[in-house]
Amino acid sequence: MKGKKRSSTAVLLEYAGNYRGLTYLGLLLSAAAMVLGMLPYICIWLVVRDLVMVAPDWTKAVHIARYGWMAFTFAVLGILVYFLSLMCTHLAAFRTAANIRKKGMERLMNAPLGFFDMNASGLLRNRLDGAAADTETLLAHNLADIVGTAAMFVTTLVLMLVFDWRMGAACLCACVISIAALFSMMGGKNAALMLEYQTAQDVMSKAGTEYVRGIPVVKVFQQTVYSFKAFERAINDYSAKAERYQGVICRVPQSINLTATEGAFIFLVPAVLLIAPGALAAGNFLEAVTDFAFYAVFSSVISTALARIMFAASGMMLARTALARIDQVMNAPQLKISDHPETPADNSIDFNDVTFTYAGSDYPALQHVSFHAAPGETIALVGPSGGGKTTAASLIPRFWDTDEGSVKVGGADVRNIDPHVLMDRIAFVFQNNHLFKTTVLDNVRAARPQATLEEVYTALKAAQCEDILEKLPDDIHTVIGTKGTWLSGGEQQRIALAAAILKDAPIIVLDEATAFADPENEVLIQKAFRKLTEGKTVVMIAHRLSTVVSADRIIVLDSGMVVEEGTHAQLLEKGGKYAGMWADYREAVNWRIQSSKEVQ
Ligand code: ADP
Ligand code: MG
Repeated sequence: MKGKKRSSTAVLLEYAGNYRGLTYLGLLLSAAAMVLGMLPYICIWLVVRDLVMVAPDWTKAVHIARYGWMAFTFAVLGILVYFLSLMCTHLAAFRTAANIRKKGMERLMNAPLGFFDMNASGLLRNRLDGAAADTETLLAHNLADIVGTAAMFVTTLVLMLVFDWRMGAACLCACVISIAALFSMMGGKNAALMLEYQTAQDVMSKAGTEYVRGIPVVKVFQQTVYSFKAFERAINDYSAKAERYQGVICRVPQSINLTATEGAFIFLVPAVLLIAPGALAAGNFLEAVTDFAFYAVFSSVISTALARIMFAASGMMLARTALARIDQVMNAPQLKISDHPETPADNSIDFNDVTFTYAGSDYPALQHVSFHAAPGETIALVGPSGGGKTTAASLIPRFWDTDEGSVKVGGADVRNIDPHVLMDRIAFVFQNNHLFKTTVLDNVRAARPQATLEEVYTALKAAQCEDILEKLPDDIHTVIGTKGTWLSGGEQQRIALAAAILKDAPIIVLDEATAFADPENEVLIQKAFRKLTEGKTVVMIAHRLSTVVSADRIIVLDSGMVVEEGTHAQLLEKGGKYAGMWADYREAVNWRIQSSKEVQ
């Protein structure tokens, strides 16, 4: 457990960069502040000792004023140094958290777009932000506490052995017992249980936050029971784990620990009894009595110190889970950007023996896929669901990198093309279009920021979005995704289509873009497509085979492999997979026409 702890602190300090030195300085000052903070007590004890020694002739106690001033000075110095220490650790902690956020955002910026299909970017950003904030607690407070407390611990031990080693040893007995009890609670197989217990606590507090945050949604959608369930489960899980850990594992050791620390002076009594006769004979009995008082008071410091270290260790635990969340972002796959970028010569697309497997999947989504689209050609990808159509389409704008083979645009491997150049050349509309939580105008204009308002309207009109605009309260300036302005999948897709039209890129990738359209809209959307794809290189995926009939080439993908390729007429003649799909499709269409006639 210790190794892991050290490593999470070390990892954090790596993020601190130039501010690492400041952290160390802060820790050093924290140790100094702790020791300074102890000195006034020693001064007071010296005052008491002087008074006892000279009793009842108080006038002989000449040093007490000096001790008093010393106590005051040490106390003030201690506070000052502590303040300085916190300033250093906070500065370093804020810089570290800022560095973590910056690095994490850089990683996210360079992650392939496909990564965000599986990991919502907003969620990742929030997680990064929260986790970075969590590390502040460790760096700004917990570490300083741990180091300061350790300093207090060591100083106390030294003082105890210096004043009178026999009484010091007696105190240590209590100490050793309580340390052993603490370790039995946290060490060995109980460490895992403690972690479980703390994780459950973490989960519970998060579920609570989620629950409260979700109340508006819960009210709107009447999901009271469902949303409360998660919270309730977290509470029950926590109470079960707490009972097990606190009640079963900790009961005996914690009792022993408390007894040993609170009753440390019990161990002192035999030591004093042993020392007393000697001291009496040597005439320094009073000194021994004041020493006893000193030990009785300071023996509790040791256990307080231990308890504080333990408390701070829970901050370590928090930092560790925060680091795990940060790692998730830092381990995001990165697109390598070529040092010698190539420029696409034209708008052709080539798949050369492409094999690709999704991370975590145990079978390839594409195997040895090859095809060519000459500039201006329309290529249709068809095939059964799960055949690999979306995957193939998403490799063109480099949502992912291939495992084997290459995807080329204009003769240049997409991995060697500057991502900006590649993105400028390709417009795409996929099934799950992520619109930004901003106005319709900004969403469409994101495709081409310099476009005029007129151009945006024209694009929206071409994408058949007029009816959407009509029902929005602020027309094109309505913010999407806020109260009352949720758009359906088909509507979102039409907005995305408008953006693609506005972008006017020479290569178009369309993934089942008509899947959402209702029959009345389909004709309109088809019209929009024709406008969008005029004179462009197009790779399109379509459910409705009627839309692919006129494609220059149809590629049939099944289980990630190209099983057929040719024009509509060629493939029908061949009588293979496509011909079968076409027959099924015709039957379905006829059936639909038939049934609508019957209704009439
Ligand atoms: P299609 O678009 O032809 O329906 P896809 O390209 O979506 O097919 O899927 C091809 C294969 O890859 C399927 O087996 C599917 O389960 C898998 N797949 C698709 N997306 C992912 C993903 N994000 N992670 C893992 N596997 C995926
Ligand atoms: Mg698909």
